[in-house]
Amino acid sequence: MNRRSFLQQTVAACLLPLIGPRRLSLQEDPFRLLRRNVGIFTGRGGTIGWLATSEALIVVDAQFPETATQCWEGLHARTERRIDALINTHHHRDHTAGNRALKPHARQIIAHRNVPELQRRAARQQGTLDQQVYADRTFDTQLMLEAGDERVHVVYYGPAHTGGDAIIFFEKANIVHVGDLVFNRMPCFIDLPGGATTEGWIAALERLHTTYESDTQFIFGHGHPRYGVVGSRADLLVMRDFLEGLRRYVEAGLKAGKSVDELAAVDRLPDFPEHYLESWQQGIPNAIRAVYQELTGS
Ligand SMILES: [Zn+2]
Repeated sequence: MNRRSFLQQTVAACLLPLIGPRRLSLQEDPFRLLRRNVGIFTGRGGTIGWLATSEALIVVDAQFPETATQCWEGLHARTERRIDALINTHHHRDHTAGNRALKPHARQIIAHRNVPELQRRAARQQGTLDQQVYADRTFDTQLMLEAGDERVHVVYYGPAHTGGDAIIFFEKANIVHVGDLVFNRMPCFIDLPGGATTEGWIAALERLHTTYESDTQFIFGHGHPRYGVVGSRADLLVMRDFLEGLRRYVEAGLKAGKSVDELAAVDRLPDFPEHYLESWQQGIPNAIRAVYQELTGS
């Protein structure tokens, strides 16, 4: 298998399960208020964060068109406002496919400078170019929005989960949406063609940990159903340890002369047994293959 088709298959195989596990059930309220008019919406895809008041409506990430529409309807019941800003944490389609459903209601779509091109490239591979709606305002390292009585900081730490990850800090609520920098206690998607680097990712998690406080709340792009998509500073280090564990596992295998197929023939890492999802059994093998490729350049 050549590198390109391997990557395409890897991307396809990795993204599919992210769509599956969190389907809405009728009993489950997808909206949850966290603190000071900031909350989350969990439909299908990466967790949506929101700030809804009579003076501002900010939405972080857009999932897919159907759930984005459902999210808009729920937010519209809370405030009469249009969306002052839709912010994409990164280009992956489970965070941006819903842009086209929210665009008619949004004054602007914000993302890191690298996101439109990464999104275009991924869409070209997936044959979905005609379904894309891109950010119309981009930033390099940081951007600040006054949102009624809240202040929203959008920050870029450098390549990590992708080459264009935005971190969104609601200052007064003391809540940070970290996008896919955290897959809470589950396998993670490592998208090398999308600019992922586990080294940069580990550094970003450590910087987040030192930047924020013990009572800061964090919103994660994805989470194991048992642990959820909201957590604390301590969870950042669990994610860091898991990424370091992946690297250690592959490095030890390389030293022992093992092939990538031998290394990837497991469904969980020995040191991280809870990072496993029944519905995404390829999660760990795919992550191992990506780290192998990252470390060996092959
Ligand atoms: Zn992602």
